[in-house]
Amino acid sequence: MEKKWCMIATWEMAKEGVEKGSSILQDRGNCCDAVETGVKTVEDCPEYTSVGYGGLPNEECEVEMDAAFMDGKNLSIGAVAGIKDFKNPVSIARKLSENRFNIFLVGAGAEAYAHKNGFERKNMLTEESKKIWEKRKKEMSEKNLSPYDGHDTICMIALDKCGDMAAATSTSGLFMKKRGRVGDSPLSGSGFYVDNEIGGAAATGLGEDIMKGCLSYDTVQRMKRGISPMEAAQSSVRDFSEKLKKIRGYSGAMSLIAVNNRGEWGIGTNVEFTFVVGNSEKVRVYRAVPMENKVVIERLKDSL
Ligand code: ASP
Repeated sequence: MEKKWCMIATWEMAKEGVEKGSSILQDRGNCCDAVETGVKTVEDCPEYTSVGYGGLPNEECEVEMDAAFMDGKNLSIGAVAGIKDFKNPVSIARKLSENRFNIFLVGAGAEAYAHKNGFERKNMLTEESKKIWEKRKKEMSEKNLSPYDGHDTICMIALDKCGDMAAATSTSGLFMKKRGRVGDSPLSGSGFYVDNEIGGAAATGLGEDIMKGCLSYDTVQRMKRGISPMEAAQSSVRDFSEKLKKIRGYSGAMSLIAVNNRGEWGIGTNVEFTFVVGNSEKVRVYRAVPMENKVVIERLKDSL
């Protein structure tokens, strides 16, 4: 029997990618193709300065990217971290997910693999991103500013009409990060997780904190206990932010998207956050604003 399909993604920048992924799902296409196509759309766009081409560079002015792919049917995972000068890290991650061994490659090893497998090379640093880097370098020396403002990961989760699920992430990580720094986005259970039998979750925000709570896996496990995706994602973020605050007085930004295998979706966040949902109704952009003990969600834009 044909099932309900759904796609959810982090940040407003995902809109065009979710539109493309949604049309794949609407036409009875596969969830793996939907998330890969959706994430590639964002990677290819130079205006988004936190993902793929035009991503903001590290301290040394190099664009080092992290990406992952997970198939919820067989729990296959592929991931790359700290990869430079390849056009679509998410596609390299998907290819790695076909392997039994060597599924997560970093730096030069990931680049050699991508080259050998014919993935397209590209200088991912744009003139625009280089200018932003130069300006920040100057500001940092003059005003003692925090170097790490400026990041956002594209995460997408899809449920197709056959009931299969997949998730993918891609990011250039924290602006001005140390060379070799890896965030949560390519880490299974932290940046993403999906299981056909339950649902999927994926995260954006401060990777150093998200990975301390394995928030994507935690959210999926909460859904396994029968909790709705909305309650699962919100309680996961809330409980873990509170724990960090109790331990050390503060918590980094964390935003989670979630969808279960019935196509019900939810989000949890401790900062203002935009996200995109595609289903048989429409592709819609939302804004979530955390307040006291709840998160207020408002509709921003619909696709035509
Ligand atoms: N989570 C990403 C990282 O830490 C950044 C982000 O999503 O804003 O690399």
